[in-house]
Amino acid sequence: MGVYHITWTEGLKEICLFMNSDGKCNFSCHGCVIEIYPLDIHLMLAEKSDARKKRKILSEKEVLSYLSPLSYEKVIFLGKEPSIDNTLVPLAKSLKENFSTYNIMLTNGYKFVVQNIDEVCISLKAITKEKFKNWTGVDDTETVLENFKKYVKTGIKVRAESVFIPNFIDDDEIEKIAKFIASVDKNIPYRIDGYIPERNDIFRAPTKEEIDEIENIAKKYLNNVTTLHKEIKLKYEVKEMY
Ligand code: SF4
Repeated sequence: MGVYHITWTEGLKEICLFMNSDGKCNFSCHGCVIEIYPLDIHLMLAEKSDARKKRKILSEKEVLSYLSPLSYEKVIFLGKEPSIDNTLVPLAKSLKENFSTYNIMLTNGYKFVVQNIDEVCISLKAITKEKFKNWTGVDDTETVLENFKKYVKTGIKVRAESVFIPNFIDDDEIEKIAKFIASVDKNIPYRIDGYIPERNDIFRAPTKEEIDEIENIAKKYLNNVTTLHKEIKLKYEVKEMY
């Protein structure tokens, strides 16, 4: 349990803390991006770091000492899977109390955690029970959807994201997800990520045209839809700090 990788985007005053709950997750997704690319995907795409390089887990004190020379305001907790890592809440508390950070958690939404968190980005994998089970290995679509509504009720900022996988999580499914988000609040920001296949994967990456098409479908229901895919160029340099 704890942080195993730190990146810093100076231009955004943003730190990413990658957490590892002993390599476990409460889901077991096909093509788990953090399993395939355990380091910051921006470094990986720029081929700036060795993804397989083993890193030791840092203590809270060590994390703070890596951050102390840096200028930052936002801290993003991500990895596999921050909500079930019991070092998350104390670390978020320490950062907030000592450095007045704005804390963001990227999560699959299956466990509800809000202490010391200012913003949450929830990955909505699927609405259709069968697709959700096939992808995550979990036979329970309701908990994530209920937690999504609960997060919104707390008043913290909520964002949603989904991975678009042609012929699996595609037009119909993304439309169902967009409709669900709109039923809660149509102004919730929604980002659609193009799937990144691994070698010999049974699924492929979407084309730019498919991404544009899916974006337009989601925009029928939501006011703030963006997409992320490998053709998008980075605006700010991401530096590996640990
Ligand atoms: S929820 Fe995220 S970390 Fe967990 S298995 Fe799925 S993709 Fe991986």
